[in-house]
Amino acid sequence: MKLILLGPPGAGKGTQSQLISEKCGIPQLSTGDMLRAAVKAGSPVGLKAKAIMAAGGLVPDDVVVGIIAERIAEPDCKKGFILDGFPRTLPQAASLDQLLKSKGLHLDTVIELKVDDTILASRIEKRASETLAAGGTVRADDNADALKTRLMAYYRETSPLTGYYFAHGLLKAVDGMAPIADVTRQIDDVLGLIRAG
Ligand code: ADP
Repeated sequence: MKLILLGPPGAGKGTQSQLISEKCGIPQLSTGDMLRAAVKAGSPVGLKAKAIMAAGGLVPDDVVVGIIAERIAEPDCKKGFILDGFPRTLPQAASLDQLLKSKGLHLDTVIELKVDDTILASRIEKRASETLAAGGTVRADDNADALKTRLMAYYRETSPLTGYYFAHGLLKAVDGMAPIADVTRQIDDVLGLIRAG
C-alpha cells in the first residue's frame, strides 16, 4: 500500500501516519523528520535545509525529491509506505509520479486531513508546551513567526495538490477536527482496514 497524508502543519499527519505504519507494517516516510535528522547530523543536506526550515520555508524540490528517491529504494519500502509531508509542491508530486512509474509502482490513496486554520496555531503551541514539559527540545519552527510562514507555504504551494490528486481519482478527505481515535477510524474506513474490537 502506497499512501500520502496531506494536510496543513498541525493537522495530525505525523500522529496518524505512525498509527497506520504500526497497523500495516509499512514505514512512515516523513521528509520533515528526515530533514531534522540531517540538520542534527550536520550533513550537506542538513546545512542547506537548516535556516530554511527554522524560518518555516520550503526546502528546494530537488533536495527533498532526492531524499525520498533514496528512501523509497530501501528494502523496507517493498511492501509499501506512507508519505508524510511529501509531496508539498506540484513539481514534487510530478517527480513522485515519475519516480513511481519508473519502478512500475503507483499510489493507492491520498488522504487529506481537513482542519480549520483557526485551530492550527493552538495545536502547534500545545505540541511545543507538551514537548517542553516532557523535557524535550521544541522544534526551531514551532513559533508564531515560522508558523505563519509554514501556513503561507501550505496554502500557496501544497493546497493545490488536493486538486491534483482529486483529478487523479486518488483523494479521500477525512475530518481532522475529530478526536485522534475518530480520525483513525475514518482513515481505517477509507483504507478498508478491519477494525479490532
Ligand atoms: P509540519 O507539517 O508540521 O510543518 P514537517 O515536519 O512536515 O512539519 O516539516 C518541517 C519543515 O521541513 C517544513 O516547514 C519545511 O521547511 C521542511 N520540509 C519537510 N518536507 C518538505 C518537502 N516535502 N518540501 C520542502 N520542504 C519540506
